[in-house]
Amino acid sequence: MKIYGKKRALEALGRFAASGRMPHALLLCGDEGTGRRTLADYIAMMYMCGSQTDGRPCMSCNTCRRIAEHIHPDAVDATAEVNRIYESMTPPKNHVKALRIFIADCSKMPNDGDVRVIIFEGLDNMTVLEQNTLLKCIEEPLEFNKYVFTASNKTLVLQTVLSRVVTLNVDDAGKADFIEAMADNGIAPGRADELYGLCGGNIGAALHLEESGGDIPYRAAAAKAADAVASGREYDCLEAMLALKTREEIFDALGVLSDIFAAAAAAKSGRPVTGAFAEQSGKISSRLGLKAITRLHGEAVKLYGLSFTNPNVKLFAAECCSRLFGAVDNRQEN
Ligand SMILES: [Zn+2]
Repeated sequence: MKIYGKKRALEALGRFAASGRMPHALLLCGDEGTGRRTLADYIAMMYMCGSQTDGRPCMSCNTCRRIAEHIHPDAVDATAEVNRIYESMTPPKNHVKALRIFIADCSKMPNDGDVRVIIFEGLDNMTVLEQNTLLKCIEEPLEFNKYVFTASNKTLVLQTVLSRVVTLNVDDAGKADFIEAMADNGIAPGRADELYGLCGGNIGAALHLEESGGDIPYRAAAAKAADAVASGREYDCLEAMLALKTREEIFDALGVLSDIFAAAAAAKSGRPVTGAFAEQSGKISSRLGLKAITRLHGEAVKLYGLSFTNPNVKLFAAECCSRLFGAVDNRQEN
């Protein structure tokens, strides 16, 4: 197990360890793919490792190794455990009831040592009732129980819960850490660079993308639509946009398209075109006039703002194409 980046969170944890005051409940806030679960495992090691140096777990002893492999009986994947209880219930099944059974189980002493680390992923996906059920454990925690939660969206976590946990932000990795993580996963530097362009510093998203062998749908659609605009092939543009399945995807594709048009306009005034869509921006810049490109950009930005007002995804995709090509068709100048 290796931790990439997460400097702020690790520094805060280091301070807790140095003062001998590890919180009994932590919330790791960050996007999916930023390594929140890995950090949760690391925190479990901080609580349990017997060979620490300056508050840092050794990450290689038997305890640390079992935590990293998710086979330590006292580093509990609570989400999976509650689901297991739920599945084994005789109907009527009930998530809150399953959660209560799990919590009751946690009042027993830990198996191995003197501490149990209970990891709940996706606190923001829990209902108000479930969060309220958890509140009791973190308000009056048993001495041997420590809680680590993860969430993407803090606004969906109850204020009463937030006030009883210490929140740490889990950031995307910086570029150097990102490239190192890619190298450790056998990804060549050139490709790692491309992935950084596509995913920012989100290592999990990049690895997922690489494993799935594909491109992110909205980025692929935006690239194809931009190519179609540059070559005047309206049908190709329609095909690209219709491949998108949700309003969010169209919204994201329009965001990329407006960036491509903006870069194409900048290229008209001699600025170099760089980045993941340099090819598309370059083509548009060389084939269309500045006024047409400016209209295209304006149209993409307008459509971007309309993404969530049109309830029909297919109709809206078609409208996007027709309005983009409408913007190009006005070009007689230049
Ligand atoms: Zn250790």
